Amino acid sequence: MRTFHIKLKGGAQKSTIVCRKDVLAKQLKGDLSWLNAGGALIFTDSNVYALYQRQIKKLSLPVFVMAAGEEHKTEETLFALLKEMAEVGLRRTSTLIALGGGVVGDIGGLAASLYMRGIACIQVPTTLLAQVDSSVGGKTAIDFCGVKNLIGAFHQPVYVYADPTFFKTLPARELRCGLGEIIKHAALNAELFDKLSAQDDLFDMDFLARIVPDNIQIKADVVEKDPTERGLRRCLNLGHTTGHAIELTQNDLSHGECVLLGLLYESRIAARHLQTDGAYLAALSALIKRVLICDGKSIDIERAAHLALLDKKNTKQDTVTLSVPTKKGEFAFLELDYADYVRDLKEIREELC
Ligand code: ADP
Ligand code: ZN
Repeated sequence: MRTFHIKLKGGAQKSTIVCRKDVLAKQLKGDLSWLNAGGALIFTDSNVYALYQRQIKKLSLPVFVMAAGEEHKTEETLFALLKEMAEVGLRRTSTLIALGGGVVGDIGGLAASLYMRGIACIQVPTTLLAQVDSSVGGKTAIDFCGVKNLIGAFHQPVYVYADPTFFKTLPARELRCGLGEIIKHAALNAELFDKLSAQDDLFDMDFLARIVPDNIQIKADVVEKDPTERGLRRCLNLGHTTGHAIELTQNDLSHGECVLLGLLYESRIAARHLQTDGAYLAALSALIKRVLICDGKSIDIERAAHLALLDKKNTKQDTVTLSVPTKKGEFAFLELDYADYVRDLKEIREELC
């Protein structure tokens, strides 16, 4: 068991992150006396409920189940959940328990931030991606008017319970998706990079269980210094400007796979414009290729480049802002003219495919 406390700069809210096995049977069962005293509701999705209903029912708390899938990250689901919270009689002292992947965490966190102007939320992330990334940092949102995460709020969960036993039921594709963010963290942290490089099977469950706390620590350190994403937190955007643009053009690739493709492209872009360590960037690319099974041949590079130009993180007109890996454990911000960015992407695509 490993426990972290995150205290955000300037804010009164504190988050405690507990990494341990059997959270449903042990941790939440132990919490029941205070959860019952204040009132609590479990929010989950249909897949997670189908897999874990036996353990969930043993907690004897009311449960609200949403239909699984990103397409349900909508205002309808948010308001259906808020209605349920009101109907079961949650009070200002009550707790919402969000049990599921990133979608459940995002909607649950937002509902907790809105209900009675904010009640406590416990996040129980059940995917690798949610444990190493989305459950840490208090970002919550729904998609709206066709735009991803358009309506949201910062709402720190009081507890995050990260339990590796949930990984046993995850499809390989979901593990690959989480590994995308893990490799991004490794590009920011030399120690994690060495751990991943020395590991034969990156999909091994015991290995993943061991490195989840390292990843939470890396993300928590950044979030603590920059809770609202004004400066340093942009380093977490590594691989994401290009990756996110690729994601918008391809619906057969997961977020994590697109981040890995983005990292692959952006590390080569870095080598063209900045002082970088060539041997390290080659090792980083080799690590990425151990997880990525697609070669990205079908990517529409020009469309992706155009979408990257529209990214809200760009600071100047006609430039694309990237956070790129440079040396082991180091990154840099790079502003590129759009024309250079498109040319680089096209040439790198030729090199890669
Ligand atoms: P993320 O953004 O963290 O990948 P999602 O909420 O999109 O999470 O979840 C991805 C899919 O995995 C969803 O269909 C969800 O129902 C399912 N899922 C979540 N946790 C588990 C688990 N532990 N085992 C199997 N499937 C899961
Ligand atoms: Zn991401």
